[in-house]
Amino acid sequence: MRYPKLRELAEAFRALFGKPYTSRFPFEPHVPHPNFRGQPVFDEKKCLGCLACEEACPADAIKHIDEPDGKGGAVRRMIHYTDTCIFCGMCEAACINDHLGIRQTNEWELSYFDRSKAFESIEKDLQLCEACGTIIATKDHLAWLADRLGEMAYSNPTIYLNRLRELGISDPNLLPVLKDGGRSDRMKILCTRCRRETTRYEKP
Ligand code: SF4
Ligand code: SF4
Repeated sequence: MRYPKLRELAEAFRALFGKPYTSRFPFEPHVPHPNFRGQPVFDEKKCLGCLACEEACPADAIKHIDEPDGKGGAVRRMIHYTDTCIFCGMCEAACINDHLGIRQTNEWELSYFDRSKAFESIEKDLQLCEACGTIIATKDHLAWLADRLGEMAYSNPTIYLNRLRELGISDPNLLPVLKDGGRSDRMKILCTRCRRETTRYEKP
């Protein structure tokens, strides 16, 4: 018969008289390790609605819906489905805004009685083309681009016009005047197709 070694005996006594290795959840709340990578959560202020995280998500746990806001504009709803998320952290790694638009938390308790409620969402205002109504990007994304580009932003009328609007220093009375569907439309916020059309425009 082989006798247990001293180390194994010590281990057995520790297990017998020490605290259990597992937590007593659900009878007591479980406290995860500080480095535990749990559910990611959007930060509505920092997220730009650029969709880079949606592209990067391997589990299709991030989706977006662009819909009218009921006031003549549109909003982008960014949705994170907590029931399909695998907590991999790719969304945070891919976030273009210094990884702050979506951050992993150590939240892990995700049980629901109704699975259709297993999501969180935020809304971002969309900028539409002022000639054809196509979605250009979110307003926050355009403002972020203007910040990044600095003085080079002035080479792109859509970006600097969006910036002027955001700063409240563009004349709102100008828009109704610009209705000729031609050259003067260049002073509007335009999608790339309309920008090209207005640049090529020649009055008959
Ligand atoms: S943690 Fe991974 S699976 Fe979850 S939303 Fe982010 S990229 Fe998708
Ligand atoms: S800013 Fe970050 S969190 Fe927001 S949509 Fe872009 S990548 Fe996702």
